[in-house]
Amino acid sequence: MNAHKLVTALVIIGLAASMAHAGQGKEKAAKWPPHIQAVFDATKPLEFDRGDRLPLYIWQAMDPGSLDDKSAEKLVRKLNERGVGLISSWDPRNRANSLAKSFTVSRAQKKLGLRVNINATGCLYSFFDGDERTAHIDDEGKPFWDDSFGKHNMGCPFALDFRRPFVREQVEFFVKEYKKADLGIDFIFVDWEIDGPIEFNKAQAASKRCRRCRQNIKNIDDFDEFQKILRKLRSELQRHAYAEPVKSHFPKALVGNYGVYPHNGYRYWYDYFEYYVDGQPFKADRNAKYRKWYHEFPETGYTFAMPVVYTWCRIFDWYDYADTDYRWFYNMLLVASNAGRHTPAEIPIISFVHWHTVGSRPSGGQAKQFSGEKYKELLWHMLLRGTDTFFIWCGRQDAAKEIQLVHKVYAEAQQYGRFLSKGTPINFNVPKQPGTVISGLKLGNRVLIRRTDFKKKQGPIEITAGGAKIKVAAAPKRCQIISLP
Ligand SMILES: [Zn+2]
Repeated sequence: MNAHKLVTALVIIGLAASMAHAGQGKEKAAKWPPHIQAVFDATKPLEFDRGDRLPLYIWQAMDPGSLDDKSAEKLVRKLNERGVGLISSWDPRNRANSLAKSFTVSRAQKKLGLRVNINATGCLYSFFDGDERTAHIDDEGKPFWDDSFGKHNMGCPFALDFRRPFVREQVEFFVKEYKKADLGIDFIFVDWEIDGPIEFNKAQAASKRCRRCRQNIKNIDDFDEFQKILRKLRSELQRHAYAEPVKSHFPKALVGNYGVYPHNGYRYWYDYFEYYVDGQPFKADRNAKYRKWYHEFPETGYTFAMPVVYTWCRIFDWYDYADTDYRWFYNMLLVASNAGRHTPAEIPIISFVHWHTVGSRPSGGQAKQFSGEKYKELLWHMLLRGTDTFFIWCGRQDAAKEIQLVHKVYAEAQQYGRFLSKGTPINFNVPKQPGTVISGLKLGNRVLIRRTDFKKKQGPIEITAGGAKIKVAAAPKRCQIISLP
């Protein structure tokens, strides 16, 4: 978990604890903890039935604190009316307490026939826990760390074997307790980022200094080989310590990790702690360097894909479109289309999304915020390119706006339920210049279409869908259903 998110999570837990007490005296004033109330304030009950499609996940719709069974049922039911799935976190540092709270919520979910949703992030930390035995080792036999990832010291990818049982046990403890309690697990995710082997930043330089790494990587100067070996190790850690114990007890569970998804061999975004280092292979696009990425998804054993579609600040300087909305839209649609195109239909795509600009520009000055209107268009195109549902990452201060924008699209989209559940995307093209963007889902002989114009006064455009040519007229801010000839 990144530091920002850790703080958010701790604040949520703290607030939940204090509100649970405050709430007893004044029933009307504060019914739910503030982070949960923020979700209610920003959403309305769904107008269209969502069937058995995945709920909307929201960082704030997590860990409501200590509830009795009746309140838990009420909360789960009221969130479900809004299409929102409540998530419970497992905390291996506070096992009895976090298990008791998550049991209450999960039992309510089971009773109501809804999905049990789990955040297992805490269980995955840390492989690199500061133990010197996990550090790199130099020619004099002295341990050293790779400090190019910020506050979390990264160590030697080949020194983690003894950490595997420790991390796996943290997952297994909770999984087994759920099994014993006859509870299911339907959706389980982690936000496991700065830990374990990662080939980026100055990792390769550190490994070259390390005699253990040099013994294990034949062509250590070759980035492709370095990447392949590190990603294989990283995938294996996730599979062994997390995906495997979950799936062995709950074979149908959707299990995944932040940022791990099928793709075309390139990553169109950088996480907040990542930066480019000369010599790493990339595909150039204006000022952007899209890094070559390893196909880790199949080796992790994950059963859902979790792309990250955020307004990272650096995107703003990568492109020079005068319509600055298209800088965000273009990049974020590239990320979503990459996942949509390469993820098999039976693997759900649950995409992290975020709207407020993330981070600050290295070049100084403000990046112009992506407009809410075009962000909503982007979300529609994501849904019509294979995204199954969204996971809104946001802090409390941004929650109202973040949730309103996404919930509006999610709620409206439910009227096209059969297309969302059974339709096949017809287009993954992302225009290099701001013009007309078209996405669609084909079902039988009909296509659900979204058309967004970045230039005014555009006429009908002919596209191919299911081998047939169809004309798509402009239809601002709405979907169209077109029958194939
Ligand atoms: Zn090493």
